[in-house]
Amino acid sequence: MSTNSVAIIGGGPAGLMAAEVARAAGADVQLYDRLASAGRKFLIAGKGGLNLTHSEHFDAFIARYGARRDEVGRWLATFGADAVRDWARGLGVETFVGTSGRVFPVDLKAAPLLRGWVRRLRASGVGFHMQHRWLGWNADGALRFSSPGAEREMFADAVVLALGGGSWPVLGSDAGWLPMLRERGVDIAPLQPANCGFDVGWSAHFASRHAGHPVKPVVIEWRAADGRVVRQQGEFVITAGGVEGSLIYALSAELRDAITAHGSVAVHLDLAPGRDAQRLANDLARPRGSRSLTEHWRRHAGIEGVKAGLLYEKLSRDDLQDPVRVAATLKALPLTLLRARPIDEAISSAGGVRFEGLDAQLMLKKLPGVFCAGEMIDWEAPTGGYLLTACLASGRIAGHAAAAWGDRAKTGCGSESNKAL
Ligand SMILES: Cc1cc2nc3c(=O)[nH]c(=O)nc-3n(C[C@H](O)[C@H](O)[C@H](O)COP(=O)(O)OP(=O)(O)OC[C@H]3O[C@@H](n4cnc5c(N)ncnc54)[C@H](O)[C@@H]3O)c2cc1C
Repeated sequence: MSTNSVAIIGGGPAGLMAAEVARAAGADVQLYDRLASAGRKFLIAGKGGLNLTHSEHFDAFIARYGARRDEVGRWLATFGADAVRDWARGLGVETFVGTSGRVFPVDLKAAPLLRGWVRRLRASGVGFHMQHRWLGWNADGALRFSSPGAEREMFADAVVLALGGGSWPVLGSDAGWLPMLRERGVDIAPLQPANCGFDVGWSAHFASRHAGHPVKPVVIEWRAADGRVVRQQGEFVITAGGVEGSLIYALSAELRDAITAHGSVAVHLDLAPGRDAQRLANDLARPRGSRSLTEHWRRHAGIEGVKAGLLYEKLSRDDLQDPVRVAATLKALPLTLLRARPIDEAISSAGGVRFEGLDAQLMLKKLPGVFCAGEMIDWEAPTGGYLLTACLASGRIAGHAAAAWGDRAKTGCGSESNKAL
């Protein structure tokens, strides 16, 4: 059993999991968070149905982490989707696999899971220090916090930083840690929006009529820089200035990078997947009589609402009368994505502490005794439960190692303790 002290800074899923395993290893664990309660982003994640993990095969699962599939795959080899489901069950929350393969708690909510988790952590002896904003280290290597009415300093044998990325800062993760680590030589990739929407620049008329409406089913097709043609079906939502939602998020990393490289990215929408252009043109060429164009499209092509609105947005008055032109546009409506929405609106962020600056136990090579976990590390993944799974898995690795680090340092195996920073 460990007898050391571990400070966990950040009470999101990564930090809470680090606290759980460090405490289970016997360490004295104190958890600090700048907000008044832990897990605020986790709670919000439960609003539209908490997608805890995904049921797909391990190889497909780790492929979701793109360039970081090997590194994140190593975390998930120790704590993957089944382990997440077992862990939730241990907190009295059963899960189910949805039709898309995504895994949710049976009541879809995050609150019961979070409540039970924090209760269990407190009962196990983890100390919670809310409204403690970490400010860095003092000259002696003590951790500095601002708390209501006072600045506090404390030492710990090991520290786990689980401070989150840069999205939705109102939920705690405001990336205030970036300069603190940078000035200590930690290599950090710039934070960027991930699982984000994009600006398109709708006309005021289209935006006022259709913002908030889902487009489904729809296929997005675009040609990546390496010549690959990406074609994916799903659904997205029209926003006041552009597009967001699951299909956009799934492609957002590549689209974002393409915009960075080329200034904008051109995609095509197939608004009538499963129907060919010729048949659509034939159907639309039937006599219209006295019916309006919109009614004609609805009857003969099943196109209505926001999809009809997109045709009006893109085609001239003359083209709207041409069945061949309308059919071709329904099958390949051009859309130019101008820019990603700002990071504070994104579901998650890319960038963060680079893997090259971390050892296999997620300890910062530049700061012995200081470990990182969760979204603050430089990986990204689409929505689908991949974010939470990797946060939890990395929290376990960092928490275990932090508990063991104090012992290593005390017995002289470690090179330096956190006090010597
Ligand atoms: C709307 C929304 C829906 C989502 N839905 C899902 C979903 O269904 N499935 C999924 O897998 N993922 C989802 N996510 C993403 C997921 O919630 C995050 O990836 C995850 O919460 C990140 O965990 P983390 O512990 O790394 O960081 P966070 O959860 O961001 O926690 C970081 C903590 O650090 C604290 N902190 C930051 N700086 C300081 C400081 N200086 N001092 C002290 N404390 C500090 C913050 O207050 C915060 O509590 C969603 C995100 C959003 C915004």
